[in-house]
Amino acid sequence: MRIKSSVWRICFFRRFEINVTQIVVGHFQENTFVLADGENQSALIFDPGDEADRIADFLQNQQLQPLAILNTHAHIDHIGAVAELQRRFTIPFYLWQAEEPVLAGYPQACAMFGMPAGVAPQVDEWITDEERLSIGSFEVGIIRTPGHTPGGLCYTVNEHVFAGDTLFNGSVGRTDLPGGSWSKLENSLVKLMNKINNEQIIHCGHGPDTSKTGEMQGNPFLAQLRNRIAPNP
Ligand SMILES: [Zn+2]
Repeated sequence: MRIKSSVWRICFFRRFEINVTQIVVGHFQENTFVLADGENQSALIFDPGDEADRIADFLQNQQLQPLAILNTHAHIDHIGAVAELQRRFTIPFYLWQAEEPVLAGYPQACAMFGMPAGVAPQVDEWITDEERLSIGSFEVGIIRTPGHTPGGLCYTVNEHVFAGDTLFNGSVGRTDLPGGSWSKLENSLVKLMNKINNEQIIHCGHGPDTSKTGEMQGNPFLAQLRNRIAPNP
């Protein structure tokens, strides 16, 4: 019993050391997330979509040391602050290789949405077939979830899941933009739901956080896939 108790305490302590902050940015109200290790003040930035100044101010006010930028995908509303944060903090930008065509289409995407063409970020670390990344003290899991875009993925760190635009609270990502595929998104939703558990917090690219339990109860798109999703892996 002593061992069990101390393991529980370590897990409990660790759980509270990791903090995730949501910063809603830009015209598209995109969610940028900063995940911080309270023990050593290091941080990861997920999908910095716009308003680089606000994100940088938050990091500086919290005295956080960012180690990397990780993107779930390269749509314009998710990458608008990447280049500026790379420049300010001299940190690497991670993206899955399959997302290269979306990044290359950045100028056309800006024109399509009537936005001034900004600086397209340079990828420092292309993700290829890795299942995990070790960045500082963080172990980052990778779940490939194409469908919303060809190279969309989700990241996991401890009990946190960063789902990008694959899954929203009560909805799912659109598949009508270039490179989108509804059949791929369906398979990715099944894969994502089968890889995460009910205790994990799902941070979405837009809107509020959710959970596997919440989505299995309230998401009509997942209701159609219920027979392919295990209740609690
Ligand atoms: Zn998107």
